[in-house]
Amino acid sequence: MTTTVTALAAPSAGAPFETISIERRDLRPDDVRIAIEFAGICHSDIHQVREEWGPMEFPLVPGHEIVGTVAEIGDEVTRFAVGDRVGVGCFVNSCLECEACKDGEEQFCDQGVVQTYGDHDKDGATTYGGYSQGVVVREHFVLRIPDGLDPAAATPLLCAGITTYNPLQRYGAGPGKQVGVIGMGGLGHVAVKIAAAMGAEVSVLSRTAAKEEDGRKFGADHYYATEDEKVFEELAGHFDLIVNTVSADLPLDDYLGLLGRGGTLVNVGAPSKPQQVGVFSLLTKRRAFAGSMVGGLPQTQEMLDFCAEHGVTATVEVIDAQDATAYYDKVVDGDVRYRAVIDVSTIG
Ligand code: NAP
Ligand code: ZN
Repeated sequence: MTTTVTALAAPSAGAPFETISIERRDLRPDDVRIAIEFAGICHSDIHQVREEWGPMEFPLVPGHEIVGTVAEIGDEVTRFAVGDRVGVGCFVNSCLECEACKDGEEQFCDQGVVQTYGDHDKDGATTYGGYSQGVVVREHFVLRIPDGLDPAAATPLLCAGITTYNPLQRYGAGPGKQVGVIGMGGLGHVAVKIAAAMGAEVSVLSRTAAKEEDGRKFGADHYYATEDEKVFEELAGHFDLIVNTVSADLPLDDYLGLLGRGGTLVNVGAPSKPQQVGVFSLLTKRRAFAGSMVGGLPQTQEMLDFCAEHGVTATVEVIDAQDATAYYDKVVDGDVRYRAVIDVSTIG
């Protein structure tokens, strides 16, 4: 016996959302059933619904920024009780035995991590994401949402939060460090807030000056509109770390030129086309060009606790399910301030 829930699904690539019924499995001993309250719209959802990264299976129910409450627990669940507020991020299963899993980097599981949606779980079942009333997830992959975090505003932390916290922490964002954030959208605005909370000196590198006031409110010390080419002269060699959240083609050599000696530019934005980097941009000043993909469970919990301690949440627009299709275009047009979150009670 499974449980039927209502979900928002794209019936085919790029098509408007429709309401459908999906089945959630019966609880296994280590499963948690979650009544979903909120689901964020990440630009990755759009890339996948529109098949910008490759073919997907349809109907597709996106959503990998999920917050809700525990509705039921399996017999062996120890970390959660009914009523607890919990979250789920980008993946819902992995082998838990390989070195990556043992290191708490389940996203790099040797056997392949099971994505929250558009994937197949270990038993072959299709995974459906958070744009739905409920989900059943193995306990290991469920996060605790600390008290004091607003549930809607905390929802984007499950992807945008961990995706930016991970490289900020790995590459030492903190007091005395110059950190730049390229693109102030869903990921970028959270990156600014987290880097500021870590104590770094933070600069926004946005296309225009339109979001300057917000950037400073989010904790940025400096704000630069990169449409002004002088910025690249003014800031040459300035940064210790730059986090690039943009998925469009960027002149990466120009941005690498903003790094000082031994600086690192980390790409978290995921463009569908290959990007070009001139090796001399790296040789000079021993710079590094790196990538980063979300983060494992222990670090995601650490990030949530860090955000609770520092009062960091996303700045969100809570929307009705019927507006999700229109909001996909708004995200692409850069018109969302700064992350759209679906109020799941409006589905169906
Ligand atoms: P978003 O909300 O659309 O923000 C992207 C930002 O990029 C925009 O707000 C804009 O900032 C800038 N931008 C947009 N179009 C641009 C263009 N043509 N040229 C230059 N800049 C442009 O998207 P998001 O949800 O933050 O996601 C960003 C990227 O990260 C996506 O590719 C997503 O798939 C990827 N992602 C990766 C991971 C990972 O683990 N690596 C996780 C989640 C998401 P300004 O207006 O301020 O310039
Ligand atoms: Zn995401």
